[in-house]
Amino acid sequence: MIKRRKTKIITVGNLRIGGSNPIAIQGMAKISTDKVTEVVSQIKEMQRAGCELVRLAIKTKEQAKALSKIKKKVKIPLIADIHFDYRLALLAIESGADKIRINPGNITEKKAIDEIVKALKKAKLPVRLGFNSGSIPFKYSSANLAKKMAGYCLGYISEFEKRGFYDIIISLKTSDVLSTIEVNELVAGKTKYPFHLGVTATGPGISSVVKSSVGIGTLLKEGIGDTIRVSLTNSAVSEIKTAKMILQSLELRRFYPEVISCPTCGRCQVNLIKMAEEVSSALMKLVIKKPEIKDMTVAVMGCEVNGPGEARHADIGIACGSKYAALFKNGKIVKRVNVKKAKIELLKEIK
Ligand code: SF4
Repeated sequence: MIKRRKTKIITVGNLRIGGSNPIAIQGMAKISTDKVTEVVSQIKEMQRAGCELVRLAIKTKEQAKALSKIKKKVKIPLIADIHFDYRLALLAIESGADKIRINPGNITEKKAIDEIVKALKKAKLPVRLGFNSGSIPFKYSSANLAKKMAGYCLGYISEFEKRGFYDIIISLKTSDVLSTIEVNELVAGKTKYPFHLGVTATGPGISSVVKSSVGIGTLLKEGIGDTIRVSLTNSAVSEIKTAKMILQSLELRRFYPEVISCPTCGRCQVNLIKMAEEVSSALMKLVIKKPEIKDMTVAVMGCEVNGPGEARHADIGIACGSKYAALFKNGKIVKRVNVKKAKIELLKEIK
């Protein structure tokens, strides 16, 4: 079991972040907030997929003001993402944002920090200080990025503390996995604030899933991280699904039955890849109606000889021969069925 780092607890809307509270899944809406109907529909879709708080890019006054309309229509906390102009942060706070994310790389003036702190205190809202290697205001080499970024982060946090403000969540993202891990480790060792994790600009396709999983997963394994966001050059819902898989793979949270399937080899005589995908997607639908099945481990194996043994940790599974498939429970065969009906029989047994 992973031992989590001890942090201060921060309230964001109806969520409590940090301490031993569940690691929350954050998403980012990919539609401008001034298109209220469309963005509300996307947020609801994300929420159905498992999103627990959502960040919205705020670039104009109109987008900041639109938060009040969105707020009336969605239940999860809204995070206003502010760059450059601190006045947009003030407007977003007035419009009902539950948290403000500011970029310490481009909001640096004393007056801007004074005004933001004043408004946050008045509204009793937290801030995320979201450091990003793409916008830090100093030169660095790849060799010293993490150390320089950590030093800058600690200095910036102290500006808030000097003003008596401590409702802070920290994020430190770079576009490479190693420096993201290093900078988070450096700062986590020096503060008690909760951390939001992510790896930014991860590239297209499978590369982004791998980079996010390794970066976020390594930090979570070290006990660092209280909210996560997976950034993919893909849909908002894919980001949420990937985040859930990262948390489940580390046994930090459980959302759906775990499907284990063999990699196949020369012994396999059925289209196991298709069968495993179909079983997995059927279970994803079934768990919405029957949440009690989320703790099951289900195996889909390619041969009767080794399948049950290889999947001995599964609660239930199917091992396919050329004509018949063995249905097994806890590693023991309990029934033989026609291989063409293997998937249906397995699902029937689970139900
Ligand atoms: S379960 Fe059977 S088919 Fe699958 S990898 Fe193992 S030996 Fe090969």
